[in-house]
Amino acid sequence: MNGNENKRLALLGSTGSIGVQSCDVARSLGLPVTVLAAKSNIKLLEEQIREFSPKLAAVTDEKKAKELKIAVADTATKVVSGHEGLIEAAVYSESDIVLNSVVGMIGLEPTLAAIKTGKKRIALANKETIVAGGMLVTEAARTHGTEIIPVDSEHSAIFQCLQGVPDKSAVKKIILTASGGPFFGMKREQLAEITPAEALKHPNWSMGAKITIDSSTLMNKGLEVIEAAWLFSKKAEEIEVVVHRESIIHSAIELIDNAVIAQLGTPDMRIPIQYAISYPARAVSPAKPLNLFDVGRMTFFPPDEDTFTCLRTCKRALSRGGLAPAAANGANEAAVGLFLEGKISFLQIGDMVGAAMENQPDVSSYTLADVLAADTAAREYVLSTVKK
Ligand code: NDP
Ligand code: MG
Repeated sequence: MNGNENKRLALLGSTGSIGVQSCDVARSLGLPVTVLAAKSNIKLLEEQIREFSPKLAAVTDEKKAKELKIAVADTATKVVSGHEGLIEAAVYSESDIVLNSVVGMIGLEPTLAAIKTGKKRIALANKETIVAGGMLVTEAARTHGTEIIPVDSEHSAIFQCLQGVPDKSAVKKIILTASGGPFFGMKREQLAEITPAEALKHPNWSMGAKITIDSSTLMNKGLEVIEAAWLFSKKAEEIEVVVHRESIIHSAIELIDNAVIAQLGTPDMRIPIQYAISYPARAVSPAKPLNLFDVGRMTFFPPDEDTFTCLRTCKRALSRGGLAPAAANGANEAAVGLFLEGKISFLQIGDMVGAAMENQPDVSSYTLADVLAADTAAREYVLSTVKK
C-alpha cells in the first residue's frame, strides 16, 4: 500500500484481542506503530515495543509502568503512566491514526482528546465511548473535522455498504446482524445458573472477556444499536436487529427503493481493522476468503428481548437519549465485573442494567462531567445492590 508515511499508528489497548490483531494488520501492511498503550500487561507490551520500536508507550497501572520503564530502558521508547499517560498517547503528535481498542468507558477522554487535535483519524473499536458520550464524540468530530471510522464488524459493514450510496438520505433502515451468542434459544429459567465459564464461550468470535459476556447477554448488540445510531445518524426505530447465527453477513442497509446492500466475509476482525486503516483504499489481507459453499446456508431469527433484556434496555436508553445510555453502559461494566467475580448471577446483569438506566433522570444536553457522573452513579447503584 502506498501512503504509509501518513499512516503512523497509535494503538490504544494494544495488548487486547483487537490490539493484538491490529498489530497483525500493521505487520502485514508494513505500517509504523509509533504509540502503544495498555493497562497492565507489560510482558506483551514489552514484546510489542521490541518489535515496533514506538516512540511512546503508556501504561495506566503506575506500578507496572515503573517496571516497564526499567525493562525497556535499553530502547528509545518513552514510557508514560496513569490516565494522563493514556491521554498523552492519544494526542501524541507523531501518529496519524489512533486505533482505540481499550475496553470500557475509560476510553472516552482519550478519544475526545485525539478528536480535538483535528489531525488524526480515529479508528474506533471502543464502542463504550460512543455509547456513553455519543453527543460529545460526534459533535467534537464535526467541529474538528475528524474522521471516525468504525472497527466494530457490524459498523464497518454498514460503513462499507454506505460507500455505494452517495445520497445518505436514501438509507431507510440499518439491519444489524447478531450471532445470538452462546445462549441463543434459551429462556430466562434456563439462564439462572449460567456460570462465567459458560458465558465466556462465544460460538463464532474469539474476543476479550467483557465483550464476550456482553455478547452472551445481548448487551453487546444493545450497545451496537446505540453506536450505529450515533455513527450513522439513525433513530432507534430505523435500526433492526436480526439474529444471524453464522456471522457471515456482518450487517446490511435497506434503501428507499427496498434494495438491500450487505457486507459479507469470514468472521475475522482483521478485515474491519484493516479497512479502518486503509480506507478508502483496499489492501490484501491475511484473513481467509469467504467460501459460500462451505457456509451452505444462512439463517435469520428475531432477537428474544424478553429473555435478553439488555437489548430492550439499550433501545429504550437510545430513545430516551441524554445520559440514559451512559447509565446503562456504566451499570453493565460494573455488573459484568461482578458476574466474572462470581458475585452476581447472569440474570442480575440485565436486571441491574435496566434499573440503573431507568434511575437516570432525563436531560436534553450534557457535558463530559455529566457523563462521568452518570457513569459513576450507575456503577455505585450496581455495587450497592450487591452489598445489601
Ligand atoms: P480486551 O479485554 O481483549 O483488551 C482490552 C485492552 O484495553 C487491553 O489492551 C487492556 O490492557 C486495555 N485496557 C483496559 N483497561 C485499560 C485502561 N484503564 N487503560 C488503558 N488500557 C486499558 O478487549 P477487546 O480487545 O476484546 O475489546 C476492546 C474494545 O473493542 C471493546 O470496547 C470491545 O467492545 C471492542 N470490540 C472488540 C471486538 C473483539 O473482537 N474483541 C469486536 C468489536 C469491538 P491490558 O491487557 O494491560 O489489561
Ligand atoms: Mg460487533
